[in-house]
Amino acid sequence: MALSPIDCQQVLEQIELYLDGELGGSLRAEIEEHLGRCGPCMDHSDFQRRLKELLRARCGCDQVPAHLLDRIRALLAETHGPPLD
Ligand SMILES: [Zn+2]
Repeated sequence: MALSPIDCQQVLEQIELYLDGELGGSLRAEIEEHLGRCGPCMDHSDFQRRLKELLRARCGCDQVPAHLLDRIRALLAETHGPPLD
C-alpha cells in the first residue's frame, strides 16, 4: 500500500513527526519531495517548524499542549483549505 505519491492531507498528518525527526525512510523522502513542489505544504511546514522552535524555547521541552495544537491546526486549516474531517 501507499505506493502512490503522498498527498497534501497525508503531509499535514505527518508533518509534526517529520519536523520532530521521527519519520524515516521512504515516508520522510516522500514528504521532502512533496514540500519541494507544493507551496502551501511548504508554508505549513515552515510555519509549524518556527512555532515549534518558539514553543521549545519558551517551555524547554518538545511537548506541545493538545489544546494549543488544536488551535494551530485550525489556524493552518484556514490557510490550507478545509479541515481534514
Ligand atoms: Zn501539499
